[in-house]
Amino acid sequence: MTSFTPADFEFTFLEEGLCALDFIEQKMKDSEDAFFVGDLGDVLQKHLRWVRAMPRVTPFYAVKCCDSRDVVMTLVALGTGFDCASKTEIQLVQSLGVDPSRIIYANPCKQISHMKYASAHGVQMMTFDSEGELMKVACCYENPKLVLRIAVNDAGSMFAMSNKFGAKLERCPLLLEQARELGLDVIGVSFHVGSGCTDPDPEAYSQAISDARRVFDMGAELGYNMTLLDIGGGFPGSDDSKLKFEEFTAVINPALDKHFPAHSGVRVIAEPGRYYVSSAYTLAVNIIAKKEKIEEQMACDDEGDGANKRTLMYYVNDGIYGSFHNILFGARYMPSLHKKPKLDEPMYPCSIWGQTSSGVDRIVEQCILPDLQVGEWLLFHNMGAYTIACSTTFNGFQKPDIHHVISRSAWQWIQQISTQGLPAPVEESCPSRTPSCWSRESSLELLAKPCL
Ligand SMILES: *Cc1c(COP(=O)(O)O)cnc(C)c1O
Repeated sequence: MTSFTPADFEFTFLEEGLCALDFIEQKMKDSEDAFFVGDLGDVLQKHLRWVRAMPRVTPFYAVKCCDSRDVVMTLVALGTGFDCASKTEIQLVQSLGVDPSRIIYANPCKQISHMKYASAHGVQMMTFDSEGELMKVACCYENPKLVLRIAVNDAGSMFAMSNKFGAKLERCPLLLEQARELGLDVIGVSFHVGSGCTDPDPEAYSQAISDARRVFDMGAELGYNMTLLDIGGGFPGSDDSKLKFEEFTAVINPALDKHFPAHSGVRVIAEPGRYYVSSAYTLAVNIIAKKEKIEEQMACDDEGDGANKRTLMYYVNDGIYGSFHNILFGARYMPSLHKKPKLDEPMYPCSIWGQTSSGVDRIVEQCILPDLQVGEWLLFHNMGAYTIACSTTFNGFQKPDIHHVISRSAWQWIQQISTQGLPAPVEESCPSRTPSCWSRESSLELLAKPCL
């Protein structure tokens, strides 16, 4: 396995007894620009949690979710594979020494020049879901190992996928036959249940796993001996989600055992994105402007003491054209305070707005916060997935700086895993969550609550 030294990374070591939150508070003193802090120890925790909950399934991290070099390097050291969808993603991963066998080119509709690049660089595993793609592969690819992406029922997912990707089961025999006629090797089946489930449905995985079994059987009839099942991404990245990761794996593991028992010899991989990075990152935004509104009718009226008739509008230096892009697709965010308010501090209904001149650039429609001043900070937790990766510099506002931190003990763990592999059993030897500070943080957590 690949091993790195701290010099390969750009992270800062957390000094003994300090945690990411302490680091955030230090950074707040440096400037008023918004910034991210990503705790690589959290990525390590996620990996250990994955291995414990789904030991049969090898994760191939979906690079698009957060392509920060430090994160990718951490996962390289931890030994995961990678799901890449473009030439640039393949370049990034390979520049860190990843063997092509650890990459799946998981984009069923590929640009030919990217395809040629992947082929020339030894990436063999790739997904497809149409005849057209098979024709392209047949003429541009050296030794492809094809994975048939099937459509799944993703009605419960915030970001549905099956309108765009995935072959319907009825079409699979034809596609498999065509692949065979072209002399192409189909090694397995993949699916993606979609992301950020608003109505999370672990059953979508078990349905898809059983559908995949049918496609394996169709393949067998045509003489294919498929050996790879790819269960995609969509796993929750923070414990704020309705269902916890383990509630998904509690459904997935038995479905795998039923349809692809260990003795079947089928290798199972997944393409988690948000799972690995969501909770690692906190975004700190600065209040750059503030307005007050006095209103008669408030949804949050509090025994009519008058104080709550006051609504505050905070303008902060990030927004939906930046790190909060997912609001456009239905994601919702809530701020936290970085320091505890006084016990009797009055709270007000507030809204939080982005810094651009766009009228739709609103981050939080309604929450409860104290009377904060321009120059004070708000925190948003669980900001690692599809934030940095999707932000723009619309209106000339720059993207927040990103600082990575890690505790020395987490670093030692990563080193050890990268040189000696995972300790067995993982259950007993896993370090507790990156020390102390996160528990300190949780006592301050979400003083800001939505108005009910
Ligand atoms: C985006 C994507 C993923 C990752 O999804 P998450 O919800 O972040 O886990 C995995 N596989 C494919 C094919 C994707 O497009």
